[in-house]
Amino acid sequence: MKHFAFTVFAALLCSLTAAANDLTVVHAGTALLVPGEAPRTNVSIISENGRFVGIEDGFVTRDGATTVDLRDHFVLPGMIDAHDHITAKPGRNKRLWITTVDDSLQALYGAHYAKLTLEAGFTTVRNIGSTGTAIFALRRAINEGLVPGPRLLAAGSFLSVTGGHGDKTTGFIEPILPGIIHDGLCDGPAECMKAVRTQIRRGADWIKVMVTGGVNSEANTGIGQHFSDAELKAIVDTTHRLGRKVAGHAHAASGVNAALRAGFDSIEHGAFIDDESIRLFKETGAFLVATLSVGDHVLHLAADPNSGMSDAVRVKAREAIPTMMANVGRAFKGGVKVVFGTDSGEPEHGRNADEFKFLVDIGMSEMEAIEAATTVAADMLDMEGEVGRIAPGLRADLVAVTGNPLDDITVLTRTHAVMKDGAWAKTPK
Ligand SMILES: [Zn+2]
Repeated sequence: MKHFAFTVFAALLCSLTAAANDLTVVHAGTALLVPGEAPRTNVSIISENGRFVGIEDGFVTRDGATTVDLRDHFVLPGMIDAHDHITAKPGRNKRLWITTVDDSLQALYGAHYAKLTLEAGFTTVRNIGSTGTAIFALRRAINEGLVPGPRLLAAGSFLSVTGGHGDKTTGFIEPILPGIIHDGLCDGPAECMKAVRTQIRRGADWIKVMVTGGVNSEANTGIGQHFSDAELKAIVDTTHRLGRKVAGHAHAASGVNAALRAGFDSIEHGAFIDDESIRLFKETGAFLVATLSVGDHVLHLAADPNSGMSDAVRVKAREAIPTMMANVGRAFKGGVKVVFGTDSGEPEHGRNADEFKFLVDIGMSEMEAIEAATTVAADMLDMEGEVGRIAPGLRADLVAVTGNPLDDITVLTRTHAVMKDGAWAKTPK
């Protein structure tokens, strides 16, 4: 993964232009500097040129520094959402929506949602699938400081088999198709290799693959394995050879296990993972990105007769979602590395922290849920030296809340202040 680390490093260098040069001292009443370790009380967190430069006991001051009073607040590292679709408009009629948006409009939607996401405390986001090139324009605009938003790692277009979960045009009449952006389709190892390389040419940090069918799509192809083993292997080998990592949307155990055997770095959702999946996760070191927010969201739509959801999707939702909730808990207990993800773009943007409550519901402690959105996510992204902790040398990303999230995790849904790269994205009052 050395090449990958270099790509991330290069992307972060670009973001320096957006970093604040101000020397800032934050007086924190309670600070969870390193999730997994005990929080500290009454500390000064010092940042300069976009990075943390010191942590001191007590409330100190520095010449020329701006001192910020968060003595009545709980401070933690900027949070990471590892499964987001930041250019996607949440809503009930996605099939109509995709016939009315182009790249330009998606970029503008993305700018709006990026601000909401950042103000919610998410300073780093893995955007795990979009269409067209809007996501790369948005990533650059954020890095250049033109629009506020989280640091983006972008997967580019979803890779999907023709007629599969990522083929949003399934069932449309042929004359409409040329007007709709759906450029990640590939069939056969050769086309899949080309599809990976095309996304990387555009600047993809990750590759996203619809390994199996999905719950929330109209493709009448179930939630079993879509790509063949040979296609999965071609995708993984091509991606790794170019120094990137690969994420697989997968529900059926056969698909999860095929992806893990092929060498996928993360599995998304994982509704029907079994004992063999858990064994393979541990053997390969792959991560499971739990997306319980979208599960809850889809279940609500399935229960609402006026949601516009088709009967076929309602059946899949009622079968898959409760199982997903139970299985993510089982995987975590079994030793699988579970990472925080929301699938925002289906659920509303800016509500990302709602996921914490679901993670606690399936058996994580409050601390473990915070680790999933900080240190563990940073590990998956190969960014442990950049984000996920408050420590000298790391990006100066932090969040302040009122109340103690280790007692009540829902306080994370109400941010008091957010700092990214040493600059306030949400200024403390
Ligand atoms: Zn998703």
